[in-house]
Amino acid sequence: MIDRLAAVRKKLNEAELDALLVSQSENRRYLSGFTGSAGVLIISAENAMLATDFRYYTQAEDQAPAFDLVKVGYKFTDHLADLLTDAGAQRVGFESEHLTVAQHERWQEAASEFEWIATSGLVEDQRAVKSPQEVDKVRLAVEVADEAFARVSQQLRPGATEQDVAWMMRAEMHDLGAGGIAFETIVAAGKDGAKPHYRPANKKIPTGVPIVIDMGAAIDGYHSDMTRTIVLGAPDATFYEIYSLVLHAQEQVAAQIRAGMTCVEADAVARDIIEEAGHADHFGHGLGHGVGLAVHEAPKLSFTANEDNVLKPGMVVTIEPGVYLPDWGGVRIEDMAVVREDGLDILTRTPKAVEAQIIPAS
Ligand code: ZN
Ligand code: ZN
Repeated sequence: MIDRLAAVRKKLNEAELDALLVSQSENRRYLSGFTGSAGVLIISAENAMLATDFRYYTQAEDQAPAFDLVKVGYKFTDHLADLLTDAGAQRVGFESEHLTVAQHERWQEAASEFEWIATSGLVEDQRAVKSPQEVDKVRLAVEVADEAFARVSQQLRPGATEQDVAWMMRAEMHDLGAGGIAFETIVAAGKDGAKPHYRPANKKIPTGVPIVIDMGAAIDGYHSDMTRTIVLGAPDATFYEIYSLVLHAQEQVAAQIRAGMTCVEADAVARDIIEEAGHADHFGHGLGHGVGLAVHEAPKLSFTANEDNVLKPGMVVTIEPGVYLPDWGGVRIEDMAVVREDGLDILTRTPKAVEAQIIPAS
């Protein structure tokens, strides 16, 4: 936490800010250790304060020893001007991607003598590069997802609904020690697999169709995120064709991406292969995203990413190309990986070979 504070203070200095108010929940947790749902950090060169309400006084003292607890009740705004004066601030940064317009107006009115400066991604960029300890936590979450997936694949039988499978994943991840699921598990059979963020229905999974399963575990605040596309029974010819294309794109990404590439270049490795195969219109989402305290965080590996976003060693990202045919279904293959100087260190261990995706229907 001390290193993280030092790094954020360096950024404040570069941005000529005297103080930063951190209200975004993962940023607050990252910098302070405090996991409560409400509170604001006030960070300046000399001060580190955590202002929160009665529900969290004891928890904040336990979790955030590097921060001075400020007991503001439910009236943070009333105390704001005094706190900023104590921090010796004049130019005050706020998180413009997170703060609501209404909240911003209230803060500015209550402390109008200060200069309010919008910041964007200041802590998020820092969070994108993980420490070895953070990578270890992610690795645990990945291992739980791998093992849960293997167990559920073995139990899968005709007659199961999409919701059954989602529930089985949740139960197995819990059994394996996860604190929760990273996000609502996606189980999308047949044509519904062409909807990348489909929600599982109370619908029996037919045999022979692709089943997109996108799932992950949460452990100690860190997340995993993995997708496999399996078939119960014998797949059709389209499955073999599309699966081998997506797998090829995914493996090329794994082989070619390294630190120093831009996020747009990384995305293009997979996109070019899928476009050449005539499926340009069938891969509508980005290649991947960062994962850590949030399931979706910086960096964004996408054709829509900022041109100057570069992959750095220690970033934890997903690589998840997909091809979606509206009248048939989808195939997505998603692994998690750590970016290294010389390539990607793939964390996900669930097999990707096509034979491994076919589950006997009897
Ligand atoms: Zn996913
Ligand atoms: Zn993902």
